[in-house]
Amino acid sequence: MQKLDKLYEGKAKKLYATDDPDVLWVEYMNQATAGNGAKKAQIEGKGSLNNRITSVLFDLLAARGVDSHFVRRVSDTEQLVRAMDMYPLEIILRNTAAGSFAKRYGVEEGTELKQPILEFCYKSDDLGDPFINDDGIVALGLASKEELDEISRQARAVNDALRDIFSKIDVQLVDFKIEEGKTSDGTILLADEITPDTCRLWDLRDGSGQIEHLDKDLFRRDLGNIIPAYEEILDRLEALADAEGVARRVTLA
Ligand code: ADP
Ligand code: UDP
Repeated sequence: MQKLDKLYEGKAKKLYATDDPDVLWVEYMNQATAGNGAKKAQIEGKGSLNNRITSVLFDLLAARGVDSHFVRRVSDTEQLVRAMDMYPLEIILRNTAAGSFAKRYGVEEGTELKQPILEFCYKSDDLGDPFINDDGIVALGLASKEELDEISRQARAVNDALRDIFSKIDVQLVDFKIEEGKTSDGTILLADEITPDTCRLWDLRDGSGQIEHLDKDLFRRDLGNIIPAYEEILDRLEALADAEGVARRVTLA
């Protein structure tokens, strides 16, 4: 597989074409951003950690019957994925009130929700990713009703599987964002990344009674260095994958 022209450079990743039109080469960068790019920093080691975390998570999800765009990891900072036509949606699942949800409804951060909440934002940096509901998505033609039903079903299945995974490593899965896309043959699949950049993860091994963030809130809220936290998440996930004998998709050059 050859890495060809760069197709896109986002805030956290670069996408390259390959000699297979159905496969993209993704490079995870060290850049961290928050507030739609208002806050920005280069954090040595972040690209490698996120590439490895999302890879092991896609393997753990596959072992639980949840498919994704992930093909295989090819280096510390790079992986191959199936090329998708992306829905311009940030698909958010919440199990515990935090962040913008806690603020919007005046609920204390950490309040358990009686059921998971599926939310959508219209992915647009210019508009600041505004909230959108199901009718809005269909009315604007961002996805058809049938596609949205499938996206929603998959998002809830991802939440169920991720909750199982994180509970096994003593981490509370507070909320997360995923993206979905469609392959050239019309298959709707989980895409993009699942990392501490896109999830709120609270440590349940910490006995202090304080919230111990193992995610990008450390950076967003100036609470500390993200690297030891991301390393902790990777170590626990790798140990779980080993213990479960999960098949790992990796071919290093
Ligand atoms: P952003 O675009 O928000 O700055 P990134 O730097 O993470 O974010 O860029 C990655 C881009 O790649 C995102 O726009 C995402 O929608 C897109 N993407 C993720 N997975 C795939 C895929 N399998 N095929 C095509 N595009 C993808
Ligand atoms: N999230 C993300 N990218 C975004 C917005 C949110 O990955 O552009 C994730 C975020 O890490 C959190 C969840 O989605 O796990 C819910 O975020 P929220 O809506 O509370 O927004 P925030 O408080 O981060 O602005």
